[in-house]
Amino acid sequence: MSRRPRADMPTRGTASFTRLESEVRVYCRGFPAVFARAHGAELFDEEERRYLDLLVGAGVLNYGHNPPEIVAAVSRYLADGGIVHALDLHTVAKRRFLDAFECHILAPRGLDYKIQFTGPTGANAIEAALKIARRVTGRSSVIAFTNGYHGVSLGALAATGNSAKRRAAGIALAGVDRMPFDGYLGSDVDTAAYLARMLADPGSGIDPPAAILLEVVQAEGGINLASDPWLRAIAEIARAHDALLIVDDIQAGCGRTGSFFSFERAGIRPDIVCLSKAIGGMGLPMSLVLMAPEHDCWRPGEHNGTFRGHNLAFVAATAAIESYWRDDGLERRVAAGAAHLEKRLRALPGHGGPDGFALRGRGMIRGLAWRDTRIAGQVSAAAYARGLIVETCGPRDEVLKLLPPLTITASEIDEAADLLGEAIADIVPVPATALETA
Ligand code: PMP
Repeated sequence: MSRRPRADMPTRGTASFTRLESEVRVYCRGFPAVFARAHGAELFDEEERRYLDLLVGAGVLNYGHNPPEIVAAVSRYLADGGIVHALDLHTVAKRRFLDAFECHILAPRGLDYKIQFTGPTGANAIEAALKIARRVTGRSSVIAFTNGYHGVSLGALAATGNSAKRRAAGIALAGVDRMPFDGYLGSDVDTAAYLARMLADPGSGIDPPAAILLEVVQAEGGINLASDPWLRAIAEIARAHDALLIVDDIQAGCGRTGSFFSFERAGIRPDIVCLSKAIGGMGLPMSLVLMAPEHDCWRPGEHNGTFRGHNLAFVAATAAIESYWRDDGLERRVAAGAAHLEKRLRALPGHGGPDGFALRGRGMIRGLAWRDTRIAGQVSAAAYARGLIVETCGPRDEVLKLLPPLTITASEIDEAADLLGEAIADIVPVPATALETA
């Protein structure tokens, strides 16, 4: 037990966290620095050591840390005495957000969703989406996929695959039937056809579902990418069985895969979309459920909550939309950055080799997957020692997960790739032949 500090003495180091904070804390165990300030893709700890951030709050900081135009809008709003908390009362800030979201996000994509502001976590948006689907269809079970991650409140956790997270519930998790995600049974097994057969066969034991819930890119589950044909097949299966298609775009949305919504390139139109994380512009908490208007079945206050749509988050989100989504500038920037990143990752030691890593993902959500499940964690630790923050994902933490800010510069990508190459070489000795030909 560390000694309690004097109230008038500012403390340093990590003793306060270990003395006072619950054992549930997790990211800070792999990256134990005490961070003080940040800008763009850079983090600085209290000793002024610099880190490059490829964790970005697990997909929150798509525009980097403290994007100046968003900070300016929030600062101005506070200085002008703008209302900060208002439950779901009408506010000027909320109206500006709704109008901007309609004008720059929904309308250009031909989408006419109604918007529900849930509690500010992704999990709460998922809870709301599941309630809507069950209410609309009058059915209780939902199809979710292997390695899906949807949050840790009980409804969302029932749809989450990860066994460690599920165990923590301490109660039976109900209402979900699990099906294999695209590629789960190998590249030659069509898991959409398997799902179609299970739902068509009255002997399969699978009840008609209220919804099919999926991530287009499973992020926590290991950067598993659903193909466009698979997504179209699943959308068709949902339609054929009168089930709602719910896309969880909480981590992969807001530009992460290259387009605002991750499902755009597949040409599907989900009945419900959940957004969170990066929608708050600069890390301010906010979550949305977008639903086809005919599914807006709520009676007033049925999915209530004190913090549903925070006005500072509205201001930040509006500034983000107006700064980055008025035109296709950010999408083009992500395409260029992603191409550069991919080129650099392909050149890293061990790529594609038998003991090396396979590259996964799309846009600015990338995974490096090793067959030896210990390596990703060791590379993450070695990268951190060199000033690069990059986490792991996958059911065995066997995949290194790269989430650069969408606004990262080419030279920062080069720096990150160099550090990653050194970290990989620390852990997986590079064969001499590879060095000679490099
Ligand atoms: N869905 C997805 C795809 C996520 O990545 C996450 C968070 N990692 C959630 C849901 C849950 O969001 P939150 O942690 O804010 O509850």
